[in-house]
Amino acid sequence: MELNERAELDTSQANDLGRGSGGSGGGFGIPIPGGGGRGGIIGIVVAVLVALLGGGFGLNAMTNGDEGGQAGGTDLEQLCSTANSERLDDARCRNLLYVNSIQDYWKKAYPELGRSDYEVTTTNFFQAAVNTGCGQADSGVGPFYCPADRKVYIDLSFYDELASRFGAKGEFAQPYVLAHEYGHHVQNLLGTNAKAGQGDQSGPRSASVRLELQADCYAGAWARHATESKDKTGQQPLFKSITEADISQAIDAAEAIGDDSIQERSGGRVNPDQFTHGTSEQRKRWFNQGYDRGDPKTCDTFGTDQL
Ligand SMILES: [Zn+2]
Repeated sequence: MELNERAELDTSQANDLGRGSGGSGGGFGIPIPGGGGRGGIIGIVVAVLVALLGGGFGLNAMTNGDEGGQAGGTDLEQLCSTANSERLDDARCRNLLYVNSIQDYWKKAYPELGRSDYEVTTTNFFQAAVNTGCGQADSGVGPFYCPADRKVYIDLSFYDELASRFGAKGEFAQPYVLAHEYGHHVQNLLGTNAKAGQGDQSGPRSASVRLELQADCYAGAWARHATESKDKTGQQPLFKSITEADISQAIDAAEAIGDDSIQERSGGRVNPDQFTHGTSEQRKRWFNQGYDRGDPKTCDTFGTDQL
């Protein structure tokens, strides 16, 4: 993958919130339940938040405690302007570029789904903890989309976790993660989220799994068209090139975070009743479906028996 150094980034599409206080503070310490119930307050909060990862990653990560203050955010307009020749060495600017590309794609692709009103939304970079329209979250929850405030949230150190714990080391795992979250935004705009919220929230054929696999498929559809995406001026491409090796990195990431793989890695047995995001094989296959067809209309995970 080669990014275009000359691209003008639209800094209105991301904010750097800096470090939030509250929560358990720092570190991932991803808790994976060996069984037992989810639920209580956490269950209610997580129900309105769509995270990249399942397997109980959200447990202990949402709190209704003290409001955490945010501090130390950086002005992305300055950091990511073309005047800064080192901007693309900074993960925040690279991720801003990915967000720009994903949304440029959806502005064009959304009408293919029969709608004309794609709504651009922001990604908030945070560290440790953050207050959202879905409650307070800490980094342990992983990247997520909050339907209530229609924003994407990510602690960029998650990518280190993705590399070290899940073995998904490639840079292209990053735009895959973001494209998955923007898939949830599209679902929210379409009303798919709300409908799925009324269905089963876990199990191999649950509404939750269908929602997540569709978000993976939408990510694949973006990847197919990513090199066509343009910068803020509409003149410059955002990517100079994307190779098959890059696409493999996205597929590796999708595969690494399948419910079955996560359950196995946590030392537990594979329990399909607790699936929320789909198996590794399914996540890989639905990403490929979107990538191969390049058309979000082919991402109908709700209308098929072949999940
Ligand atoms: Zn998701």
